This record gives sequence, structure tokens and C-alpha cells, in this order.
Amino acid sequence: MIPFLDLGAATAEIRDELDEAYHRFMDSGWYVLGKEVDSFEQEYATYCEANHCVGVGTGLDALTLALRSLDIGPGDEVIVPSNTYIATWLAVTQVGATIVPVEPDERTYNLNPKLLQAAITKRTKAIMPVNLYGQPVDYDAIRDCTQDTDIKLVIDNAQAQGAQYKGRTVGGIADIECHSFYPSKNLGAFGEGGAVTTNDETVAKRIRSLRNYGSTVRYHNDECGVNSRLDALQAAFLRVKLRHLDEWNQRRRGIAAIYLEDLAPLTPRDPQFILPFVPDWADPVWHLFVIRTPHRDALREHLQQHDIGTQIHYPIPPHASDAYSDLGFPSDAFPLANQLTDEVLSLPMGPQLPPTHAMSIAIRITESLSTNDEQ
Ligand SMILES: *Cc1c(COP(=O)(O)O)cnc(C)c1O
Repeated sequence: MIPFLDLGAATAEIRDELDEAYHRFMDSGWYVLGKEVDSFEQEYATYCEANHCVGVGTGLDALTLALRSLDIGPGDEVIVPSNTYIATWLAVTQVGATIVPVEPDERTYNLNPKLLQAAITKRTKAIMPVNLYGQPVDYDAIRDCTQDTDIKLVIDNAQAQGAQYKGRTVGGIADIECHSFYPSKNLGAFGEGGAVTTNDETVAKRIRSLRNYGSTVRYHNDECGVNSRLDALQAAFLRVKLRHLDEWNQRRRGIAAIYLEDLAPLTPRDPQFILPFVPDWADPVWHLFVIRTPHRDALREHLQQHDIGTQIHYPIPPHASDAYSDLGFPSDAFPLANQLTDEVLSLPMGPQLPPTHAMSIAIRITESLSTNDEQ
């Protein structure tokens, strides 16, 4: 049995360090925010080459508080990808702003900068692209579209901790970048967690206050904030895992290299079988390894029969979700998002996946798609 993701194996590999962090936390007598969170914030800011990091309760809160810190609300427009996890859209909904979806680039699946100009209006306050599947967006091309405007660039970096764009680590490049430490992410906690990184001191201070009931001095509340504090326990565990992030991302790159090499012979035979594309300015961290084929469901079934777990990211695009039926987008409004929904398949991927397993998965895929050829 090859599971889609083996979080238990990740924990086992660094169990002693985690136990040490746990005992330090238990003995500290301080369980929310505090020294452990301060230290994690400093270490993660340094890692991201950003001036500030503010730990929050979840990735969704990081996105929502980023928009609130920019005073974005009703009447304002925020541009988001048509193909993303619904959290990106929910953040815009939570502040009462208007969602303006833009379709992805056909090859990278990331926000297509060429479509941005047409989506920008006088009401656009922010563009919120996603570093999807662990691959950075084209920051410079997106920034070019906002020249001579006050439009802010807020990145949803839930999936790409440690990725590089033109040699720079993501996190400190855009105005604000938002991270999730949900257990399955590249930097995953043992529960919920998130963070905002930024070089803007005003933004950092505002989010620091917003996450803690809108208060910086105890019992003095400057505005109506929320309770979205990072647990000291999660911070202690994240400090351990941050030390392993680069090595674990490097192993993900090794798995991706095997898939890319072993599956490459399929593409000349089947132009509809599509492997991930990496632009030369991107160094992705392979949160997910996503292939595309119109025979997706049969392939998934074949792999399942051989005890290989896969996932679909995502089976329903946000505009087609019941949650957003009130926005009234026609079902064919975003054809590329719809097509990806029907064709994408995420293969097993993770730092603890043995390379030999990646090789046998590639053999099973080749087997399955060759059968389709003959039909
Ligand atoms: C995981 C994820 C989020 C949300 O993070 P949570 O910590 O689960 O709130 C947001 N956006 C994307 C693209 C994600 O993958």
C-alpha cells in the first residue's frame, strides 16, 4: 500500500526533537503566544527573508487578516484565481469585498498575468494569487500590471513554503504573504496554524493587534479584532520542522524528478497527457505533483486497484460550489478551471516517500495510459 501522504512517517523521522520541544513547552508554564511564538516568528521571518512574521490561528485567518489590515471591505474588489482551494475566495467573502476571479496560465496553472489588466477596475484593492501546488507565481509580471496604482499584492502561500522565485525565497517578495501550517502542508504543524509575512511594519503591527482581540495593551482594545493566536505548542513543533524544511523540500524535488523523467516518454504518444511545467525562474517545492489526462478517473481507479492512493485538487472549482451559488457565475464562466477539475490527479508526494515507490507508481501510470491508447 502506497498512501497519498504519510504524515506518521514524517513524525517518526524527527520524534526525538519533537519530544524535546513538547517537554520544553509543557514545562514553560506559558501556552498561548509568548516566547515560543516570538522565536518561531523571528526564525520564520528570517527564513522567508521578510522583516516581519505574525503567527495566527489558521491559513484562512492569515488571508482574512491580511485583507483587513489593508482596510479592504464592502465595495472593494479583490482578484483571485478561478482555480484554487476555496479558502482564497472565503477570505474575500469574510471581509465583505467582491470576488473577481481570473483564469490560470494553461501551463503553470497559476494566475495568468496576461488576463489581469482586463480584470482590474477602479475598485480593485488587491490581487491575491496563489503559489499553487508549491510553485511561485510570476511576481514581476503581476506587479507590472499594478504600476501607478495602489493595488496591493497579497500572496496565498499556503502551499509553497521554501519555494524560490528568481532566486528569492517566497514570503518576503509581495506586500503581504500568507502561510498555512495545516498538517499536510510542506511546513505542517500538529494542529491548526498560520502566519503572515511582510516587510511593511504598519501591516505587521495591525495584524498583531487584530489576531489578539484588536489589542496591543492588555484590556485596551483599539478595534474589533478576532481571536486567532498561534499556540505555543504549535510554534514549538514548527521550530523543529522549520529546521528540516529545506532538506525535506529537496527530497520532494527528487521525487518530482523521478516522476518527470519516468513519465516523459508518455507525452509524445499522448498529447493530452500533461506533466507539470516549471518556468526557468521558478524553483517549486512540490507540495503536490499534479498530472493531467482526460482519462483521469480510469487512471485513478487503476492506481487504486494497485493500492496507490491519489487525490484530486480540486474536484469542484469555487465558482461551481454551492457556497457560491448566490454569486451567479454561469457554470461555464471559467472553462479552464472547469477543465482542470475534470483532468487533474495528484500523485503520492512527500519527503518520506521512497524513490523506489515513485518509480513503481510511474510504471503503473504508463501501464494504465497505454491501455487507453489501444482502445
Ligand atoms: C490549505 C490552504 C489554505 C487554508 O489554510 P488553512 O490553514 O487550512 O486555513 C488556503 N489556501 C490554499 C491554497 C490552501 O492550500
